[in-house]
Amino acid sequence: MAEAKEEPRIGVFICHCGTNIAGSLSIEEVMEYAKTLPGVIVADEYQYMCSTPGQKKIVEAIAEHNLNGIVVAACSPRLHEPTFRTATQEGGLNKFRFEMANIRDQNSWVHMHDWEGATAKAKDQVRIAVAKARMLEDLIPKSVPVEHSALVLGGGVGGMQAALDLAGAGIKTYLIEKSPSIGGRMSQLDKTFPTLDCSQCILTPKMVDVGRHPNIELYTYAEVENVEGYIGNFTVTIRKKARGVLSPDEAEARGIIGGGCNGCGDCAEVCPVIKPNPFEFGMAPRKAIYIYHPQVMPLQFTVDFDSCVKCGLCVEACGEEKKAIDLDMVDTFEEVKVGTCILAIGYDLIPIEEKTEWGYKRYDNVITGLEFERLICASGPTGGKLIRPSDGQIPKKVGFVLCAGSRDNTGGVAKPYCSRFCCMYSLKHAHQIMEKIPGAVPYIFYMDIRSFGKMYEEFYYRIQNEGAKFIRGRVANILEDPSTKNLTVFTEDTLLGRPLSLEMDMVVLAAAIQPKPEAERIRQMFGVSKSQDGWLLEAHPKLNPCGTTTAGIYLAGVCQGPKDIPDTVAQAEGAASAASIPIHTGEVQLEPYFAICMDDLCAGCGMCVPQCPYGALALVEKNGRQVMEVTEAKCKGCGTCGGFCPGGAIKMQHFTSPQICAQIDAFLLEGGEQ
Ligand SMILES: Cc1cc2nc3c(=O)[nH]c(=O)nc-3n(C[C@H](O)[C@H](O)[C@H](O)COP(=O)(O)OP(=O)(O)OC[C@H]3O[C@@H](n4cnc5c(N)ncnc54)[C@H](O)[C@@H]3O)c2cc1C
Ligand code: SF4
Ligand code: SF4
Repeated sequence: MAEAKEEPRIGVFICHCGTNIAGSLSIEEVMEYAKTLPGVIVADEYQYMCSTPGQKKIVEAIAEHNLNGIVVAACSPRLHEPTFRTATQEGGLNKFRFEMANIRDQNSWVHMHDWEGATAKAKDQVRIAVAKARMLEDLIPKSVPVEHSALVLGGGVGGMQAALDLAGAGIKTYLIEKSPSIGGRMSQLDKTFPTLDCSQCILTPKMVDVGRHPNIELYTYAEVENVEGYIGNFTVTIRKKARGVLSPDEAEARGIIGGGCNGCGDCAEVCPVIKPNPFEFGMAPRKAIYIYHPQVMPLQFTVDFDSCVKCGLCVEACGEEKKAIDLDMVDTFEEVKVGTCILAIGYDLIPIEEKTEWGYKRYDNVITGLEFERLICASGPTGGKLIRPSDGQIPKKVGFVLCAGSRDNTGGVAKPYCSRFCCMYSLKHAHQIMEKIPGAVPYIFYMDIRSFGKMYEEFYYRIQNEGAKFIRGRVANILEDPSTKNLTVFTEDTLLGRPLSLEMDMVVLAAAIQPKPEAERIRQMFGVSKSQDGWLLEAHPKLNPCGTTTAGIYLAGVCQGPKDIPDTVAQAEGAASAASIPIHTGEVQLEPYFAICMDDLCAGCGMCVPQCPYGALALVEKNGRQVMEVTEAKCKGCGTCGGFCPGGAIKMQHFTSPQICAQIDAFLLEGGEQ
């Protein structure tokens, strides 16, 4: 390993990145310029530095020229820094003796048509990188042990799949679901496209598998209250919401042997409180003590304490043997330790009533796709009989408005992105109507149909052949006839180039989807970024679609962006695989970019301690005086404390003050030795 204080011997390598860089600036000029910089022993260029021959150049140059610092001027460090660090290490240097200049994303791409300017800027960038490379030091990453357990947040099909995969790999998995049952949106669906399997038939076995897997500890009706720690060592506080009803295990823990809820429903029979059932979108009633839906996992009733009048009738009905109901129950908290976490918190529909032109919530017979699912479902509020909400009549002409708020730049609740499953579920709904109601005609108002998946295009043709009518044009307005409650859909047939108005018995809106409101709190708690649209942000859309920029936190399902069930399950399997790697490895290396307190300069004032956003700092006593101490594994190297310390006592490894000053000097003092 090279010594920190030896004479700098830097190798500079300029990448063409095909024509990405070489098409916008002079590689030759930048390379020749690099050779003139103080400390640079060799400068070279290559078509693709990240390729094997490109990396070989680095390895060979280190040996040939006895280099102790490497600079690569190429694309984004986010993508390729690990590659070049590995090459640096293979050449025999400490891998932190590497510095990168981003002359693609920050230069050739933004100055595409300014050859002279881009070339000059690339020289600046290389000069600045070399200035830092001259001062780089060997750094040794720390290893921390990883807990042999994982947490999955959200028990939809994505979270369930991730939990099953982790558990199947021998990892103790805590699955946290906020509603009284796992299953997520999929448990509200009737059939699933394109195979038209009954949703519950394929979901229920999975729910049962989750419920009985010895490695899965299931917390339903629970939320995450707090998360602390870092990859390998997260401490998660779970809030177990007061359910008012004990499971057999919970009853046993209270000494009620053979007791607890067995799902008989005697309590709900006697409960006098009737409220709209949110699972059925208010289309069915629910008692204050309720079961979430018929196929729940776990089979356990729940008290809605917001509606409960505490009359105690249910307690009486439940009886002395089961003694399952405790109306004085309060929320409790539990801490678990996990190595990695997967977020799978799903999605919501936009409040489509705010797009007033379609009359949702004003007109009885305008419903959403999810309400349609419940209306057509055998376990739904009508026993699967599709009827008009206004009068219970069977609809014969049903309009489907696609992209209701999706791919829409008008602002408000509208979303500019495609919600990615509405085309397909509207085709499915059209089929279900034709199947269930002889003579019924579905009218599909679309802008274009996106049937992108395996066997999806075939499904589209099938629905066309079955007799569905397709009208290409955005629906401008829907008006209700107050006497018949029929709906007139105003649109334009863009294929025929003429305005159109059609009277329908009922209209189904394929409402856009959006992140759940709590996604913001969850992402802040777990330290995850969000995309422009508010979806949880993956580390890299192509190369790391399940990871996040916070080590140890992974994403699965629609919380990361719209996707249907097959894609959700595939991503969940990817996330589980990624989340299990550090667990099985048993330890992880942390980037050594943590703060270091130089005790002799520290005045022990403690001013830095509250500044740290990650709670990594504390005052401790050393040699009879107070000094600051860093918990290295918690420190993310953000630099807040380093910038704040009035005595300059905090050193930010790899971003030391001398290194940063050298870069600033190099920028300001072009060509001069700094
Ligand atoms: C009308 C309609 C029809 C559809 N039909 C089909 C179809 O036929 N075929 C198909 O492939 N796809 C279909 N889809 C898409 C399908 O619903 C999704 O692909 C799938 O549900 C995504 O699963 P998920 O696990 O990512 O999210 P979800 O199903 O939303 O599950 C997320 C879970 O996380 C829980 N959660 C949320 N926040 C928290 C929190 N803070 N703490 C704990 N838990 C939390 C939720 O309660 C929920 O159980 C349809 C969608 C709609 C709207
Ligand atoms: S009566 Fe008791 S056992 Fe039966 S469902 Fe209600 S709480 Fe459960
Ligand atoms: S105590 Fe609450 S849940 Fe039980 S019967 Fe009365 S209102 Fe219903």
